[in-house]
Amino acid sequence: MAQSASSSTSFEATSASQEHLSRGISILENHQSVDNVPDTSDYSATVQTLSSGQASLTHNQEARTQTTYAGTLTTQFRAILSQKRIQTLQDIKAHISDPHIELSEFLVQNSNYSDDPPPPAYSTIRNIPLVPMQPVHAKGIRFRSMLLHISTIPMQWENPGLLDEALQSVPLEHIYHEAEEESQILQAEAGSLGTGKGPAWGYQDCVARALLRWFRRSFFTWVNNPSCSRCHSPTAAEGQAVPDPDEMARSARNVELYRCIACNNYERFPRYSDPFVLMQTRRGRVGEYANCFGMLCRAIGCRVRFVWNAEDNVWTEVYSMHRKRWVHLDSCEEAWDKPRLYTDGWGKQLSYCIAFSADGAADVTRRYIRSAKYAARRDRCSEPELLHIMDEIRALHHQKLSKEDRMRLEGEHMREQRELRAFVIRELVTDICSLSVEEMADGSIRVIKGAEKSKEAEESDWLTSETSKHSSSL
Ligand SMILES: [Zn+2]
Repeated sequence: MAQSASSSTSFEATSASQEHLSRGISILENHQSVDNVPDTSDYSATVQTLSSGQASLTHNQEARTQTTYAGTLTTQFRAILSQKRIQTLQDIKAHISDPHIELSEFLVQNSNYSDDPPPPAYSTIRNIPLVPMQPVHAKGIRFRSMLLHISTIPMQWENPGLLDEALQSVPLEHIYHEAEEESQILQAEAGSLGTGKGPAWGYQDCVARALLRWFRRSFFTWVNNPSCSRCHSPTAAEGQAVPDPDEMARSARNVELYRCIACNNYERFPRYSDPFVLMQTRRGRVGEYANCFGMLCRAIGCRVRFVWNAEDNVWTEVYSMHRKRWVHLDSCEEAWDKPRLYTDGWGKQLSYCIAFSADGAADVTRRYIRSAKYAARRDRCSEPELLHIMDEIRALHHQKLSKEDRMRLEGEHMREQRELRAFVIRELVTDICSLSVEEMADGSIRVIKGAEKSKEAEESDWLTSETSKHSSSL
């Protein structure tokens, strides 16, 4: 059995070599019309040998010998073709008398196939894969520095000692109990459907969801204008102040100043970036929410990302082991897996959504923009430059990892890219399916009102949010 299997493989290999040779022969024949054909006696001899080779291919033993033989012949043919190509190029060079004529122009003018249209210029070829390119212009370099800076935020969460300390403030028993209950309900729901499908979310997801509820409802407080600490009256913004040494030591990048409208007392609102300081202040806007909540997700053992959006917003993503994908999570909105919240929900246009974690960075914009009408202009740098920056951050974060971990993360990155591409395909299919016959006939592309309405109705259940909050964000 083993013998016959191996001989069949040898035979296939020989066939492939022969096909390669036939192609070589036809290329050589096509070149007969060109002047100064090099000596092709080697070629004739090789063809002859090949023919005899073909005739004798009857026995297993011979087949194996022929494989080696065909390999040698292929090498010989490659050498002949290469020699011929060099000769042609040298001839062309000798023919170009005017040094100002470009080689490509000469080839077009002297082509044997002058009746055919010239090949398209490279610039007309669309959808060719992007090749990462290092940013060279000031704008791209600034964008790179900014992204590199943001990529350090989730690194602050990788401190086991501080994570344990942070967990002291979390009512773990209550959270695990809630998660257990929800997990059982989801399992019962899945069972009652009888479709053989598992529950919508796993236990770990339920823990993250319970943490989200507690964080938003009982722990962190949203602050637009801080109220007066002396008389609790509202305050009015008075601009910025320089952080004092204590505020600076506690990671405040800047301090907002407010004045009480009742007692004229000045109220300071330092914007802290250290999540462990935020565990004590327990207040802020989207930046503080995402930073502190991201750290707590890490503390309960989730893989977590800090998602930066160019339109002055940030949020979180956690990895669902159950779903094997990253899940959107907004701790200000108590939103779980609602990536269309910002676009379909709030009608915002987005340009960049970049996710950062201890494992690197990824451009996840396509998860949040599912329709071209919500896509804002991306002009912070070119797309090849952004690819380069993402690769650079990933490489920086991966350098201390083992080869196995790097491979695993690369595989995960590729799977996510596939998932994101599928969103684009789905959107295109939806748009095409909602075209009317008339529109297809006259070439105008517009989504039918009815289709839009049904789509809206389908999504309206989760598109309720407090947009007013987001007037001032980061
Ligand atoms: Zn006051």
